[in-house]
Amino acid sequence: MTLVSMSEMLVNAKKEKYAVPQFNIINMEFTQAIVEVSNEENSPVILGVGEPTIKYMGMDYVIAIANAAAKNSSIPIALHLDHGSSFEVVMQCIKAGFSSVMIDGSKYSFEKNIALTNKVVEAAHSVGVSVEAELGTIGGAEDNIYVNENDVILPSAEEAIEFWNHTNLDALAVAVGTAHGMYKIEPKIRFDVISKIANSIPVPLVLHGGSGVPDQDIQKAIAIGISKINVNTENQVAFSNAVRQIINSNDDIQDSRLFLRVGRDAVKEMVRSKIRLFSSANKTDAIILNK
Ligand SMILES: [Zn+2]
Repeated sequence: MTLVSMSEMLVNAKKEKYAVPQFNIINMEFTQAIVEVSNEENSPVILGVGEPTIKYMGMDYVIAIANAAAKNSSIPIALHLDHGSSFEVVMQCIKAGFSSVMIDGSKYSFEKNIALTNKVVEAAHSVGVSVEAELGTIGGAEDNIYVNENDVILPSAEEAIEFWNHTNLDALAVAVGTAHGMYKIEPKIRFDVISKIANSIPVPLVLHGGSGVPDQDIQKAIAIGISKINVNTENQVAFSNAVRQIINSNDDIQDSRLFLRVGRDAVKEMVRSKIRLFSSANKTDAIILNK
């Protein structure tokens, strides 16, 4: 298959009450692990790419690896810019071949966030690319973004309605008490905020900072209106721990494939557990038939 926008998968996820996983890719091994398991589980999947990863891999490699993954797949795969910082970056990604983008205007005023998001939606939709935006500010650190705990702002239902009325977006990331990165203390998800917004607007909602949230809280969030969950840190930790262990216990490793394969297998295991937790396995037929 070719890369697809994420709108059909999210509409189906909202209807059938499961969450489509977004797993961030940083290299070939992450991409292979994520796409191989998603195919085995027959799950739709969103490959998230942050701006630092575009710098790390180079745009041509990002596009080539994602297209190679889609070509050999029978599942819907979206290539999605994670936390796009500006209209210009979004346009570069769309021109290069991304099938979906996030514009993160949460650092701006509410009005400027709406205007920027609307501009991106108009440009992206004209070429069939889906758009995610962010309302409120999600705490923690991810890539080049850092938000202090005290600066976290949770959105109101009224703001969500106004945002939705002015932007015809495909997915809305809402700040609901989760944070990027790993938690020092257990996070408290504001289920009341999710419910209020899910009951106010029809747009599928996105949970960022899902790493380290207890499984039962994830399932409850899906049941009350979350249709996409981003996973990044847990895959990074799984890969790093597995690689560290094999290198520390084998002084004479020279062939890098020996530890890269072990890291890739660790990511596969994590991806499988998330797909099953989010109930996105065996959902691809409904999405493809609905098109
Ligand atoms: Zn995020």
